[in-house]
Amino acid sequence: PSQTLPEMLSASVKAFGRRPALDFFGAVTTYRELGEQVERAAEGLRRLGVGAGDRVALVLPNCPQHVVAFYAILRLGAIVVEHNPLYTARELRHQFEDHGARVAIVWDKAVDTIAGFPTDVRVEHIVSVDITAAMPLSKRLALRLPLPRAREARAKLTGTPKARHLVTWKSLADHRRISRRVPAPTLHDVALLQYTSGTTGVPKGAILTHANLRANAMQGRAWVPGLVDGEETFYGVLPLFHAYGMTLCLTFAMSIGARLVLFPAFDLGLVTAAARSTPPTFLPAVPPIYDALARAASRGTIDLSTVRFAISGAMSLPVATVKRWEEATGGLLVEGYGMTESSPVALGNPMGPTRRPGTVGVPFPSTEIRVVDPADPTVDVPSGEPGELLIRGPQVFQGYWRRPGETADALLPDGWLRSGDIAQVSPDGFVSIVDRLKELIITGGFNVSPSEVEDALIAHPDVVAAAVVGLPRPHGGEEVAAAVVLRDGAALDVDALRDFCRTRLTPYKVPRRITAVDDLPRSLIGKVLRRQVRDHLLAER
Ligand code: ATP
Ligand code: MG
Repeated sequence: PSQTLPEMLSASVKAFGRRPALDFFGAVTTYRELGEQVERAAEGLRRLGVGAGDRVALVLPNCPQHVVAFYAILRLGAIVVEHNPLYTARELRHQFEDHGARVAIVWDKAVDTIAGFPTDVRVEHIVSVDITAAMPLSKRLALRLPLPRAREARAKLTGTPKARHLVTWKSLADHRRISRRVPAPTLHDVALLQYTSGTTGVPKGAILTHANLRANAMQGRAWVPGLVDGEETFYGVLPLFHAYGMTLCLTFAMSIGARLVLFPAFDLGLVTAAARSTPPTFLPAVPPIYDALARAASRGTIDLSTVRFAISGAMSLPVATVKRWEEATGGLLVEGYGMTESSPVALGNPMGPTRRPGTVGVPFPSTEIRVVDPADPTVDVPSGEPGELLIRGPQVFQGYWRRPGETADALLPDGWLRSGDIAQVSPDGFVSIVDRLKELIITGGFNVSPSEVEDALIAHPDVVAAAVVGLPRPHGGEEVAAAVVLRDGAALDVDALRDFCRTRLTPYKVPRRITAVDDLPRSLIGKVLRRQVRDHLLAER
């Protein structure tokens, strides 16, 4: 890459000026307007004291202000730190203590939480964002956002420690454009601290530079040759605060002059309404979203035949979901693989008939992979055997924020990133993800892949979803245990389900315990949190 992200955006403003960049409930911001708003917000942030290398926290759902704030922070050479606005006060406080941002741009529903942090948390300026202000007037009153109920801003200013200063987004963004003399960042400056999902432990802040993020957007462009610059309509249903939505929507979409239709959260009704007036052509999402949309499309309540590119990642994509989607929409659904530490996309299926469902495809352009022995990552496993996936490329991160030990574990001296995932490569180079290393179950010397057992369970007509974990046995080793969500009206018959598994799995893989649950715990992007399932099953035992 040769451009920083602000340079990339400027190029898009030049090339696509009058075209729509953002679309929020029908309120459109053109590329030229986006460029101007970024310059003004950057000036507002500069006046709050933000400069090169400072961290600025974003605690926002998807909204136009999120995009403007992201680029305004980068324009100053400062570092964006993304947060899930629905995290609890405790989770957010941990992250704020970790990165120490002095300025936070916060959804008004979460302002209270941030304002109420104890005084040892450094945040001094809170910019409050009313996302409804970016909607057309007609939509504002009628709308009930499909977001979980957030704590209302109760304390207002009264509960705010004196040292904490509250301003509104409107007043921040109301400045003249920033002086050209303010120095811009360079390619190898840090652009983003992106926390990992926290699936296997506490979320860690991955340090990503302009070069990392720009590279991943360019790799994405090369991956999808059929794209038409300036003509695509992306649906932003993934959260922008997660690595996947961030790269696909905030950098990739903006780099090709796409119209980005922003949804504060995935909601079938909102997507259906939007698709009537502004049909999507490009839809990055996750399997649960494709399932919901494919079902609606086959019922005929939504027309998704305009989607030319549907890209799934973040978790494994069931082949059944691919079938359902492709039958219902007539388009292709392809799977890719990534992790926060690689900006995030590292592998993808070809965007065409040679894509292979059940695999995550081949390495991205300029990306190398190896499959190694997890006990000694300098040793490659024999070709075709399962091993830990290593990744090297321009999108690989610089390390974890303030975690030298974990950085040394993840990033090998010669630039290889340890994924912590077990992968297998077919003779013609297609990669399958077996499972996470940390989630493999060890029973009496054998390894059991929870995904394989989950697939067997889900094949049963009464089972809608399953999560499989290992529970410690008193004399060492683990036993295979499953939590299943049953179809409405079905009753759990453990023996019958175990018999069913025996027809598909060798005996040591068959779960010893099976518990029915109403729902599986999932992260906001929809990943099953096996760690929580395990805690639940342990408590029950
Ligand atoms: P943490 O690192 O905090 O435990 P996390 O690994 O879930 O959380 P992310 O960076 O959001 O955080 O996710 C990366 C992980 O997601 C990968 O390491 C892999 O386990 C999983 N993943 C991503 N894409 C796929 C895919 N297509 N199939 C299976 N797993 C995938
Ligand atoms: Mg991870």
